[in-house]
Amino acid sequence: SDRLAFDVRVAPLTGGRVLVLAEDRTAERRVEEVRRDFVANVSHELKTPVGAIALLAETAADAADDPDAVRHFSAGMQRESIRLSALVQEIIELSRLQAPEREVDFVEVALDGVVAEAVDRVRVEAEARDVTVVVGGEKELRVLGDHALLVTALRNLLDNALRYSPTGTRVSVGVREMEGIAEIAVVDQGVGLSSEDASRVFERFYRVDPARSRETGGTGLGLSIVKHVAANHGGEVRVWSTPGRGSTFTLRIPAAENAQDSTSSPIDRA
Ligand code: ADP
Repeated sequence: SDRLAFDVRVAPLTGGRVLVLAEDRTAERRVEEVRRDFVANVSHELKTPVGAIALLAETAADAADDPDAVRHFSAGMQRESIRLSALVQEIIELSRLQAPEREVDFVEVALDGVVAEAVDRVRVEAEARDVTVVVGGEKELRVLGDHALLVTALRNLLDNALRYSPTGTRVSVGVREMEGIAEIAVVDQGVGLSSEDASRVFERFYRVDPARSRETGGTGLGLSIVKHVAANHGGEVRVWSTPGRGSTFTLRIPAAENAQDSTSSPIDRA
């Protein structure tokens, strides 16, 4: 909520005057609210696969004398378990990223290595969906950051590009530098997003179409993780989209040359 929160104390003074002390608690209250929302959301999201597994187990037990049915329900349990474990994994990842005391070991990271690894991780999925992943752009671009986190962020963008694209389309990944900012763009020819949805997709557990997202294995946390990785690197993630035509997500992070520039003397730069 956007309400302000104050702790107010009133002390009588001499001469009929009063002293009013108002302490601004808005920021603390907001942190509390965000944490409470997170716990509520997480509990809700965990209940879905756990409930499904319980139901499937019960049904399988009832069908004990029908091996085909048991196999069918076991496959369902397996599917839900995989979803549950992906969800738990992402919740852990996100709460680590959100921890205020989090320190990232920043080293120089080559972006083409990040791109190659992330693309490699989605290869099987891309083949299964018959979507072609094309990589292009500048080589040798470096940022200060954490290789594993950047791979995670890009993999999430690629997972989505595949998940929300029809078969036979193309996803391209481009790397370039603009005014000291390294930019990785993931462009798809998928379902796209309305401007209202585009402005909300980075919220935790926000999904345009919960049924579709769930069906395709989405947790609603992917873009929230990307947003936090970007922020931890002093960067940001943006989206442009046309419904029915496709989306472009860009991950923008200060390039490493730039970071080096600021440590060189003014004379070097002149
Ligand atoms: P999910 O795990 O559901 O994909 P995300 O946080 O990664 O969760 O994304 C949030 C929502 O944003 C998705 O449910 C989907 O509706 C929408 N979205 C994300 N990426 C794309 C994309 N490339 N094209 C269309 N919609 C997308």
